[in-house]
Amino acid sequence: MKSAYFLSAILFMAFSCKKNDTTPANSASITGLACGSGSFSLPAYINVAYSATATIPYMGGNSASYAVGAAIASTGVTGLTAVLQAGTLTNSTGNLSYTVSGTPSSSGTALFAISFGGQTCSISLTVNSAGGPVLPAVYNKIYGATSITFDGTFVTIKCNALPDHKSAYYPAGNPFHEAFSGTTFGGGTFTQNPNSISTQTITLKIPVNPALNAAHASTPMGVIGVALNGVPFFNQYAAGGSPLTGEINSFDQYWGHPQMTGMYHYHVEPLYLTTVKATKSSLMGFLLDGFPVYGPQESDGSLATGLDIYHGHTHATADYPGGIYHYHFTTAAPYLNGNGFYGTPGTVTQ
Ligand SMILES: [Zn+2]
Ligand SMILES: [Zn+2]
Repeated sequence: MKSAYFLSAILFMAFSCKKNDTTPANSASITGLACGSGSFSLPAYINVAYSATATIPYMGGNSASYAVGAAIASTGVTGLTAVLQAGTLTNSTGNLSYTVSGTPSSSGTALFAISFGGQTCSISLTVNSAGGPVLPAVYNKIYGATSITFDGTFVTIKCNALPDHKSAYYPAGNPFHEAFSGTTFGGGTFTQNPNSISTQTITLKIPVNPALNAAHASTPMGVIGVALNGVPFFNQYAAGGSPLTGEINSFDQYWGHPQMTGMYHYHVEPLYLTTVKATKSSLMGFLLDGFPVYGPQESDGSLATGLDIYHGHTHATADYPGGIYHYHFTTAAPYLNGNGFYGTPGTVTQ
């Protein structure tokens, strides 16, 4: 017992001395970095969202730990960033891992200047001009998006929620400001709320091959989908989950309104899309689960019927001749979505 105690005490002292003698605590160092032997986990394509891992071998590690690094922007082909992931060096050879993400803006070579543990080198990624996943053409109908990219599984839609139509909620002086009085959705008299429209930054990541999910996740408050003009869809509830009834009279001439942060949105039929840009039976946009949203009518002009509790049904549409589950707007509650998503929702940042 006694000798074991002394031994561990001596080892502790020796370890402490060595650590203090040679390198400062937590300082990772290596003797070589082999960018030329580095690799990327996935190929890259022009204008296609990229998310992969770069692996770079090193030599002569000193067993130190290291933290997540700062973002390294690509040069040559721009639009990508590489970020060192935290780890612990071996005492000989090993690999550094960088997460690489973004959307390459051109084809060619993207270069990342790597600097680690006293060594530097540059790793290159070839960005292909063609051959990447092709986004189905139906998404090109989202004309109001600020960007649309596709990684083969999810379409990423960015929008600013600024309606492309007049509204009483655009600030006075804005060319799209137009006073409104009279009757709004549901026949009530318009009563303006105190908010005004402002530019938002919204990113929706939506599955391109939507699928039924028996869990039927509840729709969140805030953004649940996006209209073709880049304005978000909200669900059938007001803030706090209370019924929408008290808010309906604040819908403007095109049946949308802004909330407290100035985010304009539709809870009900987007009248500008159904009467000006398209028709009552047209595609209106998508919910987060990837299933499309249509106006209140079918292509033959009849009102949509036989909607389930999620507020949709399945049949062929002009955009999906093979048939697809889709939501419809209705004039009665719940207007757009009923008891949750039919499929697995993607994600939204807002
Ligand atoms: Zn609202
Ligand atoms: Zn239908």
